[in-house]
Amino acid sequence: MGASEPSQQQEEAVDRNLEGRVCVITGASSGIGEATARALGAAGARVALLARREERIRALAAELNAATPDGQALAIACPADVTDMGALRRAADEIRDRLGRVDCLINNAGVMLNSPFQAGLVDEWRRMVDTNLFGVLQTTHVFLADLRNGGGDIVNTSSVAGRKTRAVSSVYSATKHAVTAWSEGLRQELIPDDVRVICVEPGVVDTELPEHITHPATRQATDDMYHRSMEPLASEDIASLIAYAVSRPERVSINEVLIRPSDQEF
Ligand code: NDP
Repeated sequence: MGASEPSQQQEEAVDRNLEGRVCVITGASSGIGEATARALGAAGARVALLARREERIRALAAELNAATPDGQALAIACPADVTDMGALRRAADEIRDRLGRVDCLINNAGVMLNSPFQAGLVDEWRRMVDTNLFGVLQTTHVFLADLRNGGGDIVNTSSVAGRKTRAVSSVYSATKHAVTAWSEGLRQELIPDDVRVICVEPGVVDTELPEHITHPATRQATDDMYHRSMEPLASEDIASLIAYAVSRPERVSINEVLIRPSDQEF
């Protein structure tokens, strides 16, 4: 075999080409989810955008559809709260009707409401657990039959906080550790169904995520960390990693990726 000839393995590789694949992206109204929708749409995927802020996902869908050469709709907006099983089921029915069977689920919706545990912000703990953990579980449950029927991809957006814990992010970190742990168990369980489970663990990414922190000192410290102590990643850096992972040949499963700014220490 000459140096430039493809190996037998390369010839046999079946790419999971994104062209025409139906991808559901939760938390598509901003940040990493919005950038991922753009990246997958640009690669030819048909994308269903889920989030609560309806006007944002409708505007993004309109923008993506205006960019398609033949005017054939490739993006749809599905307003839904991932903590609401009924809303998820209605969104899933609409997606199947309008785009077809779902091939790829990006579990990205999340909130980071950091505070010292002793501040006792019980409602915020519950929102994080409900959104970051239970929301991911029930979204996956709703789309699992589609994903098992033909070999799909599930991308779970965990965090560096899913690998390491810091004092003021203990509850957020607990939800992300849970997502990382569950991703590995699910990966093993779904091997016979040809479903790949990909756990992405970003470090600091410049998005609106910390803007929702209500504890004043924690908000200030987080702003300093995001904007003064390092050069954060852009949402597009995570989006391009996700697009890369889900378009690998079938024999390649990128299980877990920790991706930080080059100057992030923790
Ligand atoms: P953003 O705040 O920009 O995005 C969060 C998204 O989640 C929004 O689109 C929001 O939409 C959606 N969302 C929140 N709650 C719900 C809900 N109940 N139902 C449906 N959608 C919901 O932040 P990021 O882009 O940074 O966050 C995306 C993911 O990345 C999160 O899981 C986050 O934990 C994770 N991450 C982020 C890091 C960072 O430094 N930015 C680092 C590591 C991980 P809407 O409000 O319209 O519902």
